[in-house]
Amino acid sequence: MGAVQEYREVFDWIDAQAARMRDLVSKWANLNTFSYNLAGLQQFADLLKKEWGALGDVEELSLPTAESIDADGKLVHAPLGRALRIRKRTDAPRQIFLCIHMDTVYPPEGNFREVTLVDQNTMRGPGVCDAKGGLAVMLIAVEALERSPWAQKVGWEVLINPDEEIGSPGSSHLFDEAAKRNHVGLLFEPAMPDGSLVSHRGGSGSYSVIVRGRSAHAGRDPHMGRNAVVAGAELTVALSKLTADGITVNVSKIHGGGPANVVPDLAICRFNVRAKTPQDQQKIQSQIQDAVASFRDRDGIRMELHGGFHRPPKPLDAGTQHLQTQLESCARELGIPVSWRYSGGVSDGNQLAAAGLPNLDSLGPRGGSIHSPDEFLMLNSLTERAKLATLLIRSLTQGVL
Ligand SMILES: [Zn+2]
Repeated sequence: MGAVQEYREVFDWIDAQAARMRDLVSKWANLNTFSYNLAGLQQFADLLKKEWGALGDVEELSLPTAESIDADGKLVHAPLGRALRIRKRTDAPRQIFLCIHMDTVYPPEGNFREVTLVDQNTMRGPGVCDAKGGLAVMLIAVEALERSPWAQKVGWEVLINPDEEIGSPGSSHLFDEAAKRNHVGLLFEPAMPDGSLVSHRGGSGSYSVIVRGRSAHAGRDPHMGRNAVVAGAELTVALSKLTADGITVNVSKIHGGGPANVVPDLAICRFNVRAKTPQDQQKIQSQIQDAVASFRDRDGIRMELHGGFHRPPKPLDAGTQHLQTQLESCARELGIPVSWRYSGGVSDGNQLAAAGLPNLDSLGPRGGSIHSPDEFLMLNSLTERAKLATLLIRSLTQGVL
């Protein structure tokens, strides 16, 4: 007899949570939790504390500020929301880390603010899939675990961070800590609309280069000026030519310049880099340094490179493959088809993997068009994925981790 038959009441209980999960996602997605909307994030954290308070000890963690370079080339610090961490049975022989973020990419002043029902099975709204649906799946999976007879075999640590959509600048140290004390990571980023999951991911780096020149009157003393905007433009063209097999460079923004009669003395060039493998990452990192260094001897021009690979590539290693095999057998038992895909997008699973913790990171609901005003969630996947996660946690308590 399979576990689903043997523990029928646990899985029936999950099925009975369908309406509750739908209501939670709707309520949560109607609340704006843009990464920099601290009031909205706090309001949401308070709602989540109520749900999680019955399950374990909730800690509210202040995060360090996020550093960035502003349009004037100055280092600025942005305050972040608080993370929630809940732990239970920290002395159990097996420790599982579960995580998903509470922030979204939608600013409160934007037009995409409300949840609507497209049809019986499709909910549209900001963050319904990424990741408020994932928060509901994770909550029900842990509640189901606590109702199950295998709960005593496993301890868990849940992390809900408020800054994933901006690269987790304040919460990244929490992943390094979690990687040390857990055996496996489960993250509830969305699955694809057809139900497939992410097998491995590329890495992502974000950079700003401050270019300084010398200003001068464009008519009277043009020869005295050193044009920072032109130097920045040369640099960004050179950088964009580094796009190659396994590497993408996207120059995203250039700030600089002013009145037409002034040689500009400042430009800020921003770009994002994607690398498929750790080797690609090393290669592009040194190419970027070389490109900036090639301006070192340019008279009157100085360049400063800021930023880096906040998310290293997440390769398909043995630990991940082992987890995939376990998930496949759980999915078979539930009659859910599973396939795997590479994704160029990044998640906190990248960092967790780099810190040495094997993890599956797309255990959330099925849905799509995320980060767009068409974001949707397939409602029948809420209980489906909660059952899958529950069965996976059970199988992690059985075999070798
Ligand atoms: Zn997400």
